[in-house]
Amino acid sequence: MYQIKGDMHTHTLYSRHAYSTIQENVTAAAEQGLEMLGSADHFGDMLFTERDIRTFQFFLNVGIWPRRWKGVALFRACEADILTLRGDLYGQDTPSPVSIVGRAYKKDRSLFDRVTDNLDYVVASVHNAGFTEGASTVQATEMYLRALEQPKVFIIGHPGRSGVTFDIDEVLKHAKELHKLIELNEHSLNSDPHGAHQKACRKVAERCAELGVGVTLSTDAHICTDVGRFPVLTSFLEEIHFPQELIVNRSLEAFVGELAASGVADLRDEMLGAGSETTDLGRDSLDQES
Ligand SMILES: [Zn+2]
Ligand SMILES: [Zn+2]
Repeated sequence: MYQIKGDMHTHTLYSRHAYSTIQENVTAAAEQGLEMLGSADHFGDMLFTERDIRTFQFFLNVGIWPRRWKGVALFRACEADILTLRGDLYGQDTPSPVSIVGRAYKKDRSLFDRVTDNLDYVVASVHNAGFTEGASTVQATEMYLRALEQPKVFIIGHPGRSGVTFDIDEVLKHAKELHKLIELNEHSLNSDPHGAHQKACRKVAERCAELGVGVTLSTDAHICTDVGRFPVLTSFLEEIHFPQELIVNRSLEAFVGELAASGVADLRDEMLGAGSETTDLGRDSLDQES
């Protein structure tokens, strides 16, 4: 039996094809005995055709989410689409000149930078592998290596389900060097019990075990009833004798420690200090001047 204390990639109804509120997800996490939850709604063309900050303002105000809610440490994240073989993420090439109220920003910054400013980490995933068509394995590998190096990226989302053929060892080793995580995704397995994803996921998990690469187990829940439930993933990991110590979401301390070691965010004081039910009012994100 594995100790899993967090589900670091879940969706709220903001993701449009998902159905629960943040409160329902937090409640479900508490009921499942989790000590932390990561909310990572989609940030990509999947949601809205318009690449405008107004359509993505959901992410701007997450500073008002309690850091601890019903005893659960709550992480603010997004799942950004990888869109190019250079590992570029959604919104990075998109200018974002005006705020949600139509006021001109003083500084030129991308939509990606504005949206992820108040987030703790980014899960980088491929959802439409169309742009990789005709790419070599070397190029596809480069894509993941560069995505891993992005300063906000902490997790490579469901690599076994991306439909991209890449050099697994190279990507895993680089993740380890950077203290970043490879995701093992419950949804990849239960949506495809005997298919190609299953095989790719097994390979990724086996190599993580052999190379000593930190992973995060995620449900990728799109409804609160799935939060914190990993039946297929855990029995599969037991089958291959996956080591517990590589599961970085085994405890809040382990996850926050690795997040700090990666340089993505240092939340050790905020998350591990005396827990409070207060709201983080320090970041006035909606009224950002920059
Ligand atoms: Zn995804
Ligand atoms: Zn997802």
